[in-house]
Formats: sequence, structure tokens, C-alpha cells
Amino acid sequence: MTARGDKRLAGARRLVLKIGSALIVDEKSGAPRRDWLDALSDDIARLRAGGAEVIVVSSGAIRLGRVRLGLPRGALRLEQSQAAAAVGQIGLAHAWQTTLARHDIVVAQLLLTLEDSEQRERYLNARQTMTTLLRQGAVPVINENDTVATAEIRFGDNDRLAARVAEMVSADALVLFSDIDGLYDSDPRGNPDAVFVPEVRRITPEIEAMAGVAQNELSNGGMVTKLMAARVAMAAGCRMAIVDGNRLNPLAALLDGQARCTWFLPSATPATARKRWIGGTLKPVGTLVVDDGAVKALAAGKSLLPAGVVAVEGEFQVGAAVLVAARDGRTLARGLVAYAAADARRIAGRKSTDIEAILGWRGADELIHRDDLAMA
Ligand code: GLU
Repeated sequence: MTARGDKRLAGARRLVLKIGSALIVDEKSGAPRRDWLDALSDDIARLRAGGAEVIVVSSGAIRLGRVRLGLPRGALRLEQSQAAAAVGQIGLAHAWQTTLARHDIVVAQLLLTLEDSEQRERYLNARQTMTTLLRQGAVPVINENDTVATAEIRFGDNDRLAARVAEMVSADALVLFSDIDGLYDSDPRGNPDAVFVPEVRRITPEIEAMAGVAQNELSNGGMVTKLMAARVAMAAGCRMAIVDGNRLNPLAALLDGQARCTWFLPSATPATARKRWIGGTLKPVGTLVVDDGAVKALAAGKSLLPAGVVAVEGEFQVGAAVLVAARDGRTLARGLVAYAAADARRIAGRKSTDIEAILGWRGADELIHRDDLAMA
């Protein structure tokens, strides 16, 4: 188990770490657990020193805020949770900022809702913000935007949010720090003979049965949501680990092969999974006809620039899936377009440096970025 665990994590170039409330906030005092956080930050700094990019999905806002607001123990009503999150999120962001500042790491806060990961334009914006932050060397610290999320648009649990984030940024590994060291064939808390499952390559009904059923509609953070997260991550080509986060330096323990965990292993890489999604799943709603120069550039793996586009067919919004075709009608690729149809028409055939003068604002240089292109 050990050497393998090591490689799967150490080989990751872009990682998402999900930290649960119980790990970050002390139950009694309702304050951040500084020693644990500092130790984890040391691990994060070590990973980054090895060249990996790290994104944190951190819970804890409600747990921090409820004590400060003097809310009672036990289940909170939705609006009480939202009020608690509004208070606690400040302290949570501060705790991350303080602990990572010890390593001169800049922290960015992002609060997302389910809609942000589903609605294509917002999704692309969030993706671009995150990749820009990573490029600049910052660590994005993400939580659900609890105060605005209504019941319908809530993730409700950060396991699934973390998986969506991993999908959005094409991360190659996602680690869920939990209070259990992985998946068992039955609940180990009730069954001493429960057998540990070190590796999952496909989420079969059998695997689902192992997670049991959610206790109630509101229960979160259990094995059921972790399996939902695994499904999203694996479809995105991202491997995922469930590991016990209770010890100090849980990431280093995993990296050094000293922590048992369950790995969920996808068959594809993030890049191929993303191209499959763009090339196969999405229905194209327009066509960009391109000149011979662009045909060559695309074949060489380059992005599609406005300069190479001779016609824009159809009506579409930013982030829509469109076909890219040669003048003779041959389909060359599918992609997610960075401009709405009306704007694409205005900048077609023009240089990227002219975009700002034409539209009055500065958008992407590419009409379709190469990461958003799937060749036919
Ligand atoms: N967003 C919630 C919070 O910060 C946590 C949700 C979860 O732990 O899954 O308190």
C-alpha cells in the first residue's frame, strides 16, 4: 500500500484538498485548531516546493460562526446555518491566511454555489479565476457560498463541491480528509469484521452498497457523499483518496506512504476526460468557419484565434459548445467558445490585440482556448 500511495499523490501536479469542519474547528472552544492547521500548511508548502499546485476546499464556517453567534447546539435551521456561515467565513479565511503566511503563501478566498459549477459561463469564469490564481502562485481556499445558497442551489456538502472544483480545474488528484481512513465493505464502527477496500476502479452497485444509505436528507459528509464525489472526480479523470485527517501532518503521512487510504482510480487522464466531454457529450449550438491558417494552427495543437475565423454561424452564449469547420465544410473540432455569437462576429478576422478597441472590454485572446478544444 505504502509505495503506491506515495506515488499517486507525489505524481500529482494539480491537487485539491478537502478539509472537513471537525478537523479545522475545535468542537469545545469553537476556535480554529491552529496546531493542526500549521502542520497541514507545512505539508502544503512541501508539496508546492515539489512543483505541485494546491487548491483547498475548506469547511468550518458554520461551526466557527455558530459559537461566536451564540446559537444553540443541535441541528440549525437553514437561515441559522447561513447566518453562522456569514460570521464564521471571516474567521476561516483569516485562519488560512495566517497559517499559510508562515510560508509566504498568498491565499485567495472563493465562495461558490452549485450553479457556478453548472452554468457554463460562470463555470468558465470560475475556472479562469482559479487557474490565474494558481499561475500567480496563490492557494485558492474555497467554500460554498452558504449565505446566498437556497435549498435548491446548495451543494450542502463540501465533498461534492471539492469534486466539482477538481473537475473545473482539471486537477489530477483530490484528497478528502475525513474521520475515517477509507472505504470498508460495511460500517467499521458497527462491525469489527469490516474489510478495508484499498482501491476502487469503478463505482459499481456493490461499492455503493458498502457506503450504506444516508441517515437522513440533511446528513452530509458521510460515505454516500464521498462516493458521489468519487463519481464526479473519476469521470473527470481525477484520482481521489479518502484518508483519515485526524493526525498532525496528514498530507505528509499520505505522501510518505504512512497513512492507509482508499484510492478511487479513473481510467482516463483529466485532459482526455475533458476532451471527451467537449467532443462527445455536449450538443453544438453554432459553427465557427475558419481559414487555412487556422486549420494548420489547430492541427498543431494551438488555440483558435479570432483572426482565423471567416464566419460565425448560429446564436450562442459564452461557454457554449460549437463546431469548428473548414471552408469546405469539414468539421475539424468542437470547443467551448469564449465569446457570445454577436461578439464573435465583431472580432472574427481581427487581431487579438484589437479586441479591446472593438468590444470596449478586454476578454480572452483566444476565441477557443486549446484546453477547451477537442479535435474531430
Ligand atoms: N460550507 C459548510 C461550512 O463551511 C460546510 C459543508 C460541509 O462541511 O460539507 O460550514
